[in-house]
Amino acid sequence: MRTVLILGGTGEARRLAAALTGLRVVSSLAGRVAQPSLPPGEVRVGGFGGVAGLVDYLRAERVSAIVDATHPFAARITSNAAAAAVETGVPLLVLRRPGWTLGPGDRWQRVPSLDAAAEAVRDTARVFLTTGRQSLPAFAHLTAPWFLSRSVDPPEPPLPPRLEVLLDRGPFTVEAETTLLRDRAIDVLVTKDSGGDMTSAKLTAARALGLPVVMVDRPPLPAAVEVTSTVPEILTRLDALMDFRIR
Ligand code: NAP
Repeated sequence: MRTVLILGGTGEARRLAAALTGLRVVSSLAGRVAQPSLPPGEVRVGGFGGVAGLVDYLRAERVSAIVDATHPFAARITSNAAAAAVETGVPLLVLRRPGWTLGPGDRWQRVPSLDAAAEAVRDTARVFLTTGRQSLPAFAHLTAPWFLSRSVDPPEPPLPPRLEVLLDRGPFTVEAETTLLRDRAIDVLVTKDSGGDMTSAKLTAARALGLPVVMVDRPPLPAAVEVTSTVPEILTRLDALMDFRIR
């Protein structure tokens, strides 16, 4: 039976694992979250050991295709997957949800990096950080703002000195996000351009309250990778690939 490796850690990856039938499907998670939402079927957890480790894995498990369905900001594993695909000849498809787009009433400032986001909020009084626990070191040197940070697991140092941590996992409702922004008297929301509707309620809430948003742009994808944005498109492409490789 042919094996498809899904590089996961996202809702799309879980939906893809559930939709693939008639193949051996292995979902791979980095192991960052203590209690991850698990996809159906076979799951492996932990890094591969860079490009070389991934190449070894692809060969040992006789993987026929890789789907990189990781988060748009997980740039290292995406780059490793692209390099390992070139080295082994195993086809790679990238599943990426579209980024968010500016709508009427939005007050977004797009920035290219977390460091630029930190620069943008350095003199703001009350900042809501929804960029994930691994992003907090980029804000650790800022002493003026008070930060509210939301993440699934607790963050580790270095951390900003004036920080409150909220442990929570999406999806969130517009009503709850509006209440949170208002009750905590937030002046600016900082987010990565993750896209999707699991965490977009905060943007709707910010728009309704007239709050500014600092939007961190996505890292670029490796050159020449094939990207699709929906699970049905990936299924169609995998069908074609598998047919092609059987003949
Ligand atoms: P990253 O910086 O791109 O990857 C760092 C290292 O973690 C990789 O070199 C790889 O280790 C390992 N790794 C990452 N994803 C993996 C996977 N799916 N399976 C096995 N190993 C993996 O990744 P990250 O930003 O820390 O994200 C880690 C995971 O969390 C990803 O799977 C991603 O989908 C999910 N996630 C990330 C974010 C985010 O904002 N970055 C948000 C939600 C979910 P080796 O080099 O040893 O193979």
